[in-house]
Amino acid sequence: MTMTSSIKRIVFSGITSLNTQWLKKRSGIDVISPFHHLVSDEPVPWIDKLYGYKNSRQFEADLDWLLRNFRPLSLEQVAGQAQSGQPFPEKGFLICFDDGLRQVYETAAPILLRKGVPAAFFLNPQFVDNQSVFHNFKKGLLLDRLDRMSITPGILTAAGNILGIPVTSPDQLRDGICSINYLNKQLFDKLAPIFDLDFDRFRLEQKPFMDQDQIRQLIAQGFSVGAHSMDHPLYSLVPLKEQLRQTRESTAWVQERFAPRFRTFAFPHVDTGVSKAFFDELVAPDAPELDLILGNTTAMLEPNPRVVHRFIGENPDIPIDRMVKTVLSYNIVRKTVNRQYIRRS
Ligand SMILES: [Zn+2]
Repeated sequence: MTMTSSIKRIVFSGITSLNTQWLKKRSGIDVISPFHHLVSDEPVPWIDKLYGYKNSRQFEADLDWLLRNFRPLSLEQVAGQAQSGQPFPEKGFLICFDDGLRQVYETAAPILLRKGVPAAFFLNPQFVDNQSVFHNFKKGLLLDRLDRMSITPGILTAAGNILGIPVTSPDQLRDGICSINYLNKQLFDKLAPIFDLDFDRFRLEQKPFMDQDQIRQLIAQGFSVGAHSMDHPLYSLVPLKEQLRQTRESTAWVQERFAPRFRTFAFPHVDTGVSKAFFDELVAPDAPELDLILGNTTAMLEPNPRVVHRFIGENPDIPIDRMVKTVLSYNIVRKTVNRQYIRRS
């Protein structure tokens, strides 16, 4: 039987009927780590066009299932275990929230507290205190506006001039906005006036991110914090030197402000394309600069025990049991053919 056919058999054979205990025993994954950005019961216009998220009822149901099947782990427990180099005595789960959004303080943290589940929040120093607006949220706001206003030929021409491409339809304009990335993110600011958007006003009125005081309250309640880069670039778009600067400066900033026991970092966006040199610099086994790196290559392991991979836990269409079972099954298949470790060059 080929590998592809065995994956297909597992993935399409009714994943939810698989026995969690059986999967736990056979998978090589010790830390089940779903990552999220927010939990919200209300629409969030700057995010709704970018990705889905769970409401408090769905999030609570996920936590209940996780608690029935795994033990909750704190970031300190995971970092401490990584430091020891020993495998976990028992598999557990670590809840993560990236980007430091205010909905974490308002909605997710009270639920976690009530359930007694620890969690880790990964912060971008340039967003904390709403000092600036994440470029992806500018994209989200522009896409939201695009769907709400009537797009005149004048708007299309003006936007096309800024984007440097001919734009003759709202669909072309949407594609143009979606194609803007970290490297040409200043285009979002140039487009804003055409759509009657003021990102500074948005930042001050909506306060999309937590402030330092709210983060300190969460830490006092037992939650953990780590770094998530300075301003959230996609690492594969920037050179190694800049990847290292973003990582070191954000980790040092978190350390200075909040003095967590371990130096931890979670990749912004994805870790795809990040070279072996990056990991050699920051988590060399003999002299590690960081205690733990959280990646997001779903269901895979890194040869270095100081790197733990997570998976998206907030897709509102996928209950956590289906997601965890898929991740564990996929890892078992990779393990069977000796391909569960990520190879980096
Ligand atoms: Zn992020």
